[in-house]
Amino acid sequence: MTILDGKSLAVEIRREIGESVEQFRIRCGISPVLAAIIVGGDPASRIYVSNKEKGCKEVGIESRILQLDDSITTDELISKISELNNDPRVHGILVQRPLPNSCNEKSILDAIDPRKDVDAFHPENVGLISQGRPRFLPCTPYGVQELMLRNGIETDGKHVVIVGRSDIVGKPMALMLLQRCVGGNATVTIAHSRTKNLAEITSRADILIAAIGSPRFVTLEMVKRGAVVIDVGINRLLDGKICGDVDFDKVKEIANAITPVPGGVGPLTVTMLLLNTLTAAKLAVGDDK
Ligand code: NDP
Repeated sequence: MTILDGKSLAVEIRREIGESVEQFRIRCGISPVLAAIIVGGDPASRIYVSNKEKGCKEVGIESRILQLDDSITTDELISKISELNNDPRVHGILVQRPLPNSCNEKSILDAIDPRKDVDAFHPENVGLISQGRPRFLPCTPYGVQELMLRNGIETDGKHVVIVGRSDIVGKPMALMLLQRCVGGNATVTIAHSRTKNLAEITSRADILIAAIGSPRFVTLEMVKRGAVVIDVGINRLLDGKICGDVDFDKVKEIANAITPVPGGVGPLTVTMLLLNTLTAAKLAVGDDK
């Protein structure tokens, strides 16, 4: 059984990104710049943005944090995004979620220039992924794909079951696994809260991806012996500890490979955001190296 170590892999990929950023800087005379908008004082959002900021620093990407008051209206926020869209020094823009209920999240995310949309949430970028010609890949599914590729986990012809159909994880993950490419060519089943006979479906998976948001939801009985199990979930327990969507201690006894939480998919998400920011900077200056 292999524990799929996302933490070490993230270190390795960040080293590669750091080298590419340096080469980009030498070729083009600029550093990539990521602007992160954070609205209100949600403590979790602050931690996420601060991790992104640290990641940027580590690889030589400049970050700008725009902390906005939670009384901001949708129109005011869209106008801030327009300023960033029009600023040639900014290459990547992200809006940290969740946004206050008063904000129209879809309109706000749609306002980001698709060429600066490093989270790959814009409908244009989702459309490009669906057609198999991605500009950016969404960070968490991208991290899962890299984790599998770099650990030699073959998806070609495999039955992948994804539990979760969110726009951020489940749906784009399914689209990516379907593509005719390395890291794709899978037979994909997507399950969700309305799925009947879930355990029967998950126990047929060669690769099971859990993106549910429910602590230790995937139990031993739901997993086929020898399966690869990827746990995207991050759940904070009452005692403050973090756990995934999979009952790791039991499932690891029958899995062929499994991601831990923490230390699995999590560290890769921010890493792929850094890579997308470099891609956005290259795109902005027409650098195709
Ligand atoms: P969402 O809440 O948007 O989606 C959860 C999905 O799980 C939904 O499709 C929902 O179904 C499905 N679901 C919920 N309960 C059940 C159930 N009982 N049986 C089957 N399916 C169920 O969450 P996200 O996709 O945003 O995130 C999922 C998890 O991944 C969370 O723990 C989140 O914290 C974590 N996460 C981790 C990241 C990382 O970097 N590692 C990044 C992003 C998320 P339905 O659609 O029917 O409601």
